[in-house]
Amino acid sequence: MRTSHYLLSTLKETPSDAEIVSHQLMLRAGMVRRLASGLYTWLPTGLRVLRKVEAIVREEMNRAGAVETLMPLVQPGDLWHETERWDQFGPELLRIKDRHHREFVLGPTHEEVITELARKEIASYKQLPLNLYQVQTKFRDEVRPRFGVMRAREFLMKDAYSFHINQDCMDKTYQTMFDAYCRIFERMDLEFRPVLADSGSIGGSLSHEFHVLAQSGEDLIAYADGGDYAANIERAEAPLPTHTRANAAADMHKVATPNAKTIDELVSQFDVAIEHTIKTLIVKASDDADAEFVALLVRGDHELNEVKAEKHPLVAAPLEFATDEQIKTVTGAYPGSLGPVALEIPVIADHWVAVMSDFAAGANEDGQHLFGINWERDLPLPETMDLRNILEGEQSPDGNGTIAMARGIEVGHIFQLGTKYSEAMNATVLDENGKAQTLTMGCYGVGVSRIVAAAIEQNHDDRGIIWPQAIAPFSVVIIPMNMHKSERVQQAANDLYDSLTAAGVEVLFDDRKERPGVMFNDMELIGIPHTVVIGDRSLEKGVVEYKNRQDGNKVEMSLDEVIAKFI
Ligand code: ATP
Ligand code: MG
Ligand code: MG
Ligand code: MG
Repeated sequence: MRTSHYLLSTLKETPSDAEIVSHQLMLRAGMVRRLASGLYTWLPTGLRVLRKVEAIVREEMNRAGAVETLMPLVQPGDLWHETERWDQFGPELLRIKDRHHREFVLGPTHEEVITELARKEIASYKQLPLNLYQVQTKFRDEVRPRFGVMRAREFLMKDAYSFHINQDCMDKTYQTMFDAYCRIFERMDLEFRPVLADSGSIGGSLSHEFHVLAQSGEDLIAYADGGDYAANIERAEAPLPTHTRANAAADMHKVATPNAKTIDELVSQFDVAIEHTIKTLIVKASDDADAEFVALLVRGDHELNEVKAEKHPLVAAPLEFATDEQIKTVTGAYPGSLGPVALEIPVIADHWVAVMSDFAAGANEDGQHLFGINWERDLPLPETMDLRNILEGEQSPDGNGTIAMARGIEVGHIFQLGTKYSEAMNATVLDENGKAQTLTMGCYGVGVSRIVAAAIEQNHDDRGIIWPQAIAPFSVVIIPMNMHKSERVQQAANDLYDSLTAAGVEVLFDDRKERPGVMFNDMELIGIPHTVVIGDRSLEKGVVEYKNRQDGNKVEMSLDEVIAKFI
C-alpha cells in the first residue's frame, strides 16, 4: 500500500473527549471516527487490525470444530417474546417496527435466533454435538457508551452456540472452547486471564470470562497470587447481597415519589441498617432466572449516568426525586442472556444513592460509609460488601495463594446455558431411544472490536501504538528520505516495496511528499512493527536502516538482508 493512495488521517492533537489511551490513539492513528454516540466508522488502518483479529478468532473457531454461519442483525420480536427476554432485557434492546407495524429488535445477542434454527434443523442426537458461530454486528443501546469502540453501541462480536444431547458432551465442548479462547489471546500476545464469572440469573451453570489486564478495565478481578483461582468480583463467591424479586414497574413508581429531598432526609425516613467501609457497592438480584431488576441512581447533578468515581457536590445540590432527569434507570435487566443481574457502582469519594426495586442504598459525603435502606420494610435487608476489602491479602477460596486484585477488560465470555433457551423455545431432538430430549446449550462470545482497543491499552508508549505482530495493520513500513529528489532512493524503495509485496508481506510505502520527521511520527503513532528507512547516505554504504518499534533498536542492513528478514 502506498500512502499516496491511502487514507492515513492521523491527528497531531489528542482529542479532548477521549478519556482512555486506546480511544485517544485510535482517533490519532486514524483508525476510527465517531459518527454518533457509540457508533464508529472504521477507517482503513483500523479495519485492517479489526480484520486481523477477526481472522485469528475465525481460525481458532474452525480449529475448535465450530462451523461458521451468518444470522440477521434484525430479529423478529416474536422470538424475544417466546423467551420472555422482550420484557427482561430492558432498554439496552433496541426495538423497531416495520411498515406493517410488526415488532423487531436489533440483535444484541443471538440465542433466540440460533435456537429457532436449531429446533428446525436438528432432529436427532446423531447430529450432535454441533457448534455454530458467526462474526456479526451487534447492537446494544448501552446506558453509557464510552471509551470509543471499547463500549460501543454497534460493535463486532464473534458468537458461537453449541448444542448437546447431555451435560457430558457440553463439558467437552466447553473445555475445547476454553482452550481455543486461550489460544486466541496468546496468538495476539495479550496479557490475559480467564476468570470465573457469575452465573447469576441462570444459576449454577459454569461461566468464564476472559479479561485483558489493564488499569482502564471496567471490571475488577480477584485472583490468587500463587494459586489458580481467579474470578470477576461480580461473582457471588463471598456472601454477596441478595435482592428479593419485586415488581419493577410498581416499585419504580414508588421510587419516583418519595418526599425526601436530601440523602439525609431519605435516610431519616428509613432504618439505616448497614454500615461498611466500602469502595464499591455491589447489588445483586436473586438467582431466579426471571428476576426483574430495576435500579435507579439518584444524584444531585444532571449527569446521572456518569456512575463513576467523581466528586459531585450533592450537598450543594439537594436531591430532587421528581424529575426524570435526576432519576436514572441504570439498567432494566441484565443486558445479555449470560450473566448475573448485578450492578456495580464505584462510590469513591462520592455521594449518591441507589434505589433498587425494594430498597435503597447510598454512600455518605466522603463515599466511605454505606447505608442500606429497606424500601419495603417487610422485606429482608440486602447485605452489601466489598469483595476487595474482604478478600485482598487473604487466603482464596480453594486454599492456594493469597487474593490480589487486578483490573480487566472483558474480551470474551463463555457460558453453559443449560436448557434455558431450548426449553423456552421447545427445541428438542430424538435420543437413542427415540425419545424427545431438550437440547443442552452453550454459548461463547468474543468482543472482536473491543479487542482492538484492549490490545492498545496494553501496547503503547508516549509516541503511539506498538502493535503485536499478529494484529498489526501492516508488517513493515518503508520510509524513503527525500525520495522526490533522489532517483536512487526512489528506485531502491520501489524495488524493496515490490519484492516484499510480491512475497506477500504487508508493506506500507510512505511515498508522500512529507518531511522525514512527519513520516516517522505518523508511523510510530500507527505502530507498525518494522520500519525500513532508505536514504542516499546509507545507500552509499550499501545499507538501509532498520528500526524495531517494540524496542526502538536501529541496525544497518543490506537490502538483501532486509528482504531475507521478512520473507
Ligand atoms: P460488558 O460486561 O462489558 O457490558 P457483557 O458481559 O455485557 O460485556 P457479553 O454479553 O458477555 O457482554 O458479550 C460478549 C462479549 O462482547 C463481551 O465479552 C465483550 O467483549 C463484548 N461486548 C459486550 N458489550 C460490548 C460493547 N458495548 N462494545 C464492545 N464490545 C462489547
Ligand atoms: Mg454489557
Ligand atoms: Mg460483563
Ligand atoms: Mg459478559
